[in-house]
Amino acid sequence: MAAIDGLAPLREVIAAHDLVAKKQLGQNFLLDLNLTAKIARLAGDLAGCDVLEVGPGPGGLTRGLLAEGARRVLAVEKDARCMAPLAEIAAHYPGRLEVVNGDALAVDVQAHLTAPVRVVANLPYNVGTELLIRWLTPAQWPPFWQSLTLMFQKEVAERIVAKPRGDHYGRLALLAQWRCDAKIVMILPPEAFTPAPKVHSAVVHLTALPGPRYPADEAVLQRVTAMAFNQRRKMLRSSLKGLMPGIEERLLAAGLEPTARAEEISLEGFCALAREVARG
Ligand code: SAM
Repeated sequence: MAAIDGLAPLREVIAAHDLVAKKQLGQNFLLDLNLTAKIARLAGDLAGCDVLEVGPGPGGLTRGLLAEGARRVLAVEKDARCMAPLAEIAAHYPGRLEVVNGDALAVDVQAHLTAPVRVVANLPYNVGTELLIRWLTPAQWPPFWQSLTLMFQKEVAERIVAKPRGDHYGRLALLAQWRCDAKIVMILPPEAFTPAPKVHSAVVHLTALPGPRYPADEAVLQRVTAMAFNQRRKMLRSSLKGLMPGIEERLLAAGLEPTARAEEISLEGFCALAREVARG
């Protein structure tokens, strides 16, 4: 029996259901329930919150979330083999775990959730970034979630929290930090997972701000940063030449050196430039 909930240890669950990990589903499982409870605590106070979990697998993190007091967990899992072990957890926590067997990119999760919502997940590496970008670009802000506590490959986590002039700085950092506080709260070695991936992993915690840190039109900001980072080592006056006539004047009006490179420009600088460009 596992100490956190009295259910069977995960190794037994996996053996009983013959859950051989599938690489194409990004299956690297966390089997240490003390660790999954710790990740659940990193998400903040879960009491009174619905939690969206993408990719529960055999349910290690799900059990951590429920043991740590989440009001309800909505778990979306693509692999039908995981439904039986997840049903056992649901029976142990009556009315608190809803499992949807489907692709997280296709399921309308909001229809199943009641505010306040926190998202907590050990994401499959193949769809992790796409899901994050969707959560960061909802139709309206503030989004349906209060916080995102997400496990990524460490390199992706570094791209989310990166600052100017660092190797990892780019569009993902700008998108994430424009309307969120973002920090790495845990780093895990490959051996923490079964099977062990090739690289380290990291948990990123993002908290939604009430609105943008600096004003800018979202579409214009995205266009400017996409062009600037497409040619990240070129000077802005050249990488942004196709954006509009007179881009050098717009750069100067935004307080930016036309000879600067994308990787040197802060979020505040890009927002100032987006406002200048939006003036038309
Ligand atoms: N949460 C479990 C844990 O921490 O041990 C499993 C994490 S594993 C890295 C990723 C999980 O996401 C797998 O269970 C996999 O089957 C599932 N998955 C992969 N692609 C998915 C998708 N598009 N939608 C929902 N789940 C998906």
